[in-house]
Amino acid sequence: MATRTCPDCNRPMMGIRLIDKAYSPAHTSLDYTAADAERGMWFGRYPVEGQIEGLMCDECGRVLLYAKPKEQ
Ligand SMILES: [Zn+2]
Repeated sequence: MATRTCPDCNRPMMGIRLIDKAYSPAHTSLDYTAADAERGMWFGRYPVEGQIEGLMCDECGRVLLYAKPKEQ
């Protein structure tokens, strides 16, 4: 991902990982699915469209989120 700068501070932002609240070692990165997605018939899971990547400004703490579509 190209370096992005904080819209408020104009400083380079650092990548952060968003993790779920499952107990270790079950931690996984945050996924996303379509708003109208329905749970799968067999496993009751939503189809994963991709992952959420985060960037944080270490000056003001602003966090930006970007969707990273899953490679097909
Ligand atoms: Zn900032």
